[in-house]
Order: sequence, then C-alpha cells, then structure tokens
Amino acid sequence: MKKLSLLVSLLLFGACSNKEEAAKTDGTVVTTIGMIADVSRQIAGDHQEIINLIGEGIDPHMHQPSKSEIDKIQRAGLVLYNGLFLEGKMGTILKNRADQGNPVSAVAEGIEIQVMGSSVPDPHLWMDVSIWSKVAKKIGDELAAFDSKNADEYQKRRKEYQIKLNDLHTYALMVFPTIPQKQRVLVTAHDAFSYLGRAYGIEVRGIQGISTESEAGTKDINDLVTYLVDNKIPAIFVESSVSEKSVKTVIEGAAEKGHTVKIGGELFSDAMGPAGTYQGTYIGMMDHNITTIVNALGGSAPEGGFQNKLND
Ligand SMILES: [Zn+2]
Repeated sequence: MKKLSLLVSLLLFGACSNKEEAAKTDGTVVTTIGMIADVSRQIAGDHQEIINLIGEGIDPHMHQPSKSEIDKIQRAGLVLYNGLFLEGKMGTILKNRADQGNPVSAVAEGIEIQVMGSSVPDPHLWMDVSIWSKVAKKIGDELAAFDSKNADEYQKRRKEYQIKLNDLHTYALMVFPTIPQKQRVLVTAHDAFSYLGRAYGIEVRGIQGISTESEAGTKDINDLVTYLVDNKIPAIFVESSVSEKSVKTVIEGAAEKGHTVKIGGELFSDAMGPAGTYQGTYIGMMDHNITTIVNALGGSAPEGGFQNKLND
C-alpha cells in the first residue's frame, strides 16, 4: 500500500512538473564556472541569486553534469556559460536549452578578441585580464537584459568592476618584465596559460597531454628538461586541479643533470580558490597567479600582491 501511494504521488508530481516545466523557471541565474559566477555576483549585487555548478578544484573539461545540475539548468531564468567547448559534457544540455528559446549565453563567444589555439579554440580567456574585462561587459549586458528594471545599476557596477580589472591588468604588465629575460618561461602541468603568456610576455609550456603517451612523452619530457637546464629556469608550477606526478618527473630529470628546479607554487588554472577567501574571487585568483609566477621566476612583485590582500 505504501509503495503504491508513493508511486501515485510520483506520477502526479511528474505529470504536474512536465506540464508546467516549459513556462516555469525559478528566476535564478546559473553559471558553469567560478570565474563567471564571481563576475556575475560583482555586477548583480543583491539583486540576483547566482548559482554556480562547477566548483573549487574541479576540471570543467571533463566534468559530467549530475542530475541536480541538469535540473538547475532547466529551472534557471538565465544560464551564463563559458563556451568554446570548455564545458565539454554539458554542451548538449546547454544547446537544447537554448534551442527551446531560453536565455542561455556563452559569454566567451562572440566578443572581439583573437582566439588562441591551433586545431581547437583555447577556452581559457580569463588568463588575460583585459580579455576577461570584455567578458565582464558581456555578462553585464546579459544581466541587464534579463532584469531590465535594474539595468542601470548593473551597468554602473560593471563599469566599476572593470576599473578594478584594469588596475590588475596594469599590475601584471608592470611586474612580469621584472623577471630576467631568459627566465620568462612558464612551465605548468596543463595547457591553460597561453592567453596569460601572450598578454604579459612570457613563454608558456604545458607538460600534461604530452606525458600521457609513454614513448613520445618520455622524449618530450627529456626535451623539456634539457631546455630548463640550458636556460637555467629556476621553477615550474603545479595546479590546484591537476596531478603533480609529471611535474615531479621533470624536476628529477633536471636534478640528474645538475640543475635545481623548484616547485614555484600552486596556480589556479580552471577553478578558483576556496569560497570566502580572496583567492576564491577572480581578481584574487589572478593576483595570486601573477604574483606567484613573477616571484618564483626571479622577478619582483610585492608579496601581498597588487592590493596587499594575498597574505590575509
Ligand atoms: Zn583547462
């Protein structure tokens, strides 16, 4: 009896939600990655609840959306995602939602920038603060269109936020050139930093990807070790969401050739730091990355970063 009534209520609930699903949303703004969520919160203030799906330490490229995440996308009034194939496994759901006429926007697409990447577009636009500022403009426009009665306030807050982004970009342009010319090489576990390299004048090399294919990987790692030794590169970097194994192999290889390479610190590549911390904001995450890279490679950036908040 109990089973039957549960079944009946499930059926009733199912029928009801199906009927109303198309018309009803809960009015929330849903974002896929922390960097988009943070910019949205800075602009929307108290006017919107921003629900982010892919959190701290999670790799968006491989993330498989859960049932609850799919529900949140289906109920959302507005969905803001990166695009350029960053959210690989969520792509179909987002596209279907857009095809049904719902407001779903790929904020990294359709802005006037030169997209990097040879065979596939490189989605990591946030690594160049001046580009992410253009994305912030697009996020502001989307929020203003979604909630037009607060549009003026959104645009005002967006402009104020872009001033802070411009300050951060200027800081990066100032501190990167303090790294000695020959040491301006950023070696990281995964290939997420190309936009940073292009914007701030540092060569970028990723280890992951090449190291997974055993034979070619060994040769590539050996080439990288030789390069580090020849150029006396002092440090390479780990990432919060990627294994340190390949990084350690490179460090050991350099040591065998008599050159000490240290781990220059942990960088935030595709996810921000813990919620509620400075590094858990877009500005804090990038301030941390910039300051850590510059100091580990022999340049000089203030320990506390561009607004002295890194040691809080
Ligand atoms: Zn990535």
